[in-house]
Amino acid sequence: MTAGSGSATRPVVGYANRMSRVRPSAIRELLRHGTDPEIISFGGGYPDPALFPVEELHRVYADLLTPAHAAALQYTASNGLPQLRAQVAERLTRDGMPATADDVLIIQGGQQGLDLAAKLVIDAGDVIITEDPTFLGALIAFAPTEPRYAPVRSDADGLDTDDLAEVLATHPDAKMIYVVPDFANPTGVTMSLPRRRRLIELANAYGVLVLEDTPYRQLRYDGESLPTLKSLDTEGRVLHLGSFSKILAPGLRLGWASASPEILERIALLKLAADTQNSTLNMAATSAYLQRYDIDAHIADVLPVYRHKRDLMLATMADVFPASVDFTRPDGGLFVWLTFPEGFDAGTFMAENLLPEAKVAYVPGATFFPVDHQPHHARVSFSGVPDERLVHGITALGRLLRRELG
Ligand code: PMP
Repeated sequence: MTAGSGSATRPVVGYANRMSRVRPSAIRELLRHGTDPEIISFGGGYPDPALFPVEELHRVYADLLTPAHAAALQYTASNGLPQLRAQVAERLTRDGMPATADDVLIIQGGQQGLDLAAKLVIDAGDVIITEDPTFLGALIAFAPTEPRYAPVRSDADGLDTDDLAEVLATHPDAKMIYVVPDFANPTGVTMSLPRRRRLIELANAYGVLVLEDTPYRQLRYDGESLPTLKSLDTEGRVLHLGSFSKILAPGLRLGWASASPEILERIALLKLAADTQNSTLNMAATSAYLQRYDIDAHIADVLPVYRHKRDLMLATMADVFPASVDFTRPDGGLFVWLTFPEGFDAGTFMAENLLPEAKVAYVPGATFFPVDHQPHHARVSFSGVPDERLVHGITALGRLLRRELG
C-alpha cells in the first residue's frame, strides 16, 4: 500500500490497545487559561514562583558548572546521587520513617513514582482503589496499565476506612490502594490518625500495596503533623512517595520513593528501564543546596505566604458564596474543593458563565472521579493568584453563583 492510500480514519501507525486509555486531560486544557493574562485562574496547582530560592540555586549551579565539578554533568547511579539519597533519608528519619540512603530512590518528581508503582503491580483489568475524587495526575499515570477502579468515599477526615473495608470485601484481589493522606489533591482534606491505622490493618489483611503520595506534606499551616502511612507500616507494603516540587521547585523534577528493599529494588529496575537516571546536575545542585542552606528555614518562610492566601480565600468564600455551596477548609496544601448543589454542572457553568462573564477559571471536578464523574464540584487553588485578584475572582464567582443558585 502506498503512503496516503489508506482510509481517512485509519491511523498512520498501529497503536497499542493501551493508547485508547491515553487521552488529553481537561487539566491541560485549563492550564492554557493560565497563560491569558486577563483570566484569573484558580485552576493550576503551581507553587508561587516568587517563593523559589533562585539566588541560592544560582550559586550552587554556578559552582557546579566549573571544570572541578564536571562529574555533575556525567552519568551517575540510576537510583540517584548517594549524597542526595542520604540527605533525603535523613529527612525521612526525622519524619518518623527511619531510613538510610539505600532505602531511597530518586525519581522524576512524585509523578514518576505513580507510573512506576502501576507498572510494578497492575496487569490489565487489575483493581486500583483510590479516594473518590482522587489526583487526576495519578489516573493519567495509571491509565497505560489498563486498570479498573474501585473508588472509596472520602470526607473531612480523608479516605473513609469503613467504605474501604466494604470495597476490599467486594474486590479482595485489589492490587493497590492509592492515597494522598496529607492535604489531598483535589479536596485538601487530611486523613485522620485512626483511619491511617485502620487502612494499614486492612491492607495487611488483604495483602495489597499501599501507594502513599505526599507532595504537600510539608505545607502544613495549622495543627500537628500526623504519622505517615509508611511510619505505621508493619509488613513493608507501603510505597512512600515525596517530592521537592512544593518545597523547593518543581522544575528540578526531583522526588523520592521509599519502600522495603524487596519493593524498592524492583521499582529501581523499572526506573532504570524508563530513563536511566535523574539529571545528575539537578541532583548535585539540590544536594549542594541542602548542604549549604537550610531548607526547613526556607519552608518556614513559605508557609505564612500560603497560609495567608488560604485564609483570604476561605474568608472571601464565606462572605460571598451562597449557603448552598460547600467548601473544604484545608490545614495545608494548595487546594480547596467546592461542592455545589446536586444537578449543578460546574463545567457548563464555567464555560457559559464564569469564563465569558467574569474571566475566572477553576477546574471542574468531574475529571477527578475515576468512575462516576460527579459534575457538581470544582477545585480551586489559592497558590498562584495575587491577593487583590484572588478576592476579585472569588467575589465574581460568588456573585454569579448567587445569581445561578439563588
Ligand atoms: N501527587 C499529587 C497529589 C500531586 O498533586 C502532584 C503534583 N501536583 C504530584 C503527585 C506530582 O508532583 P511532582 O511530580 O512535581 O512531584
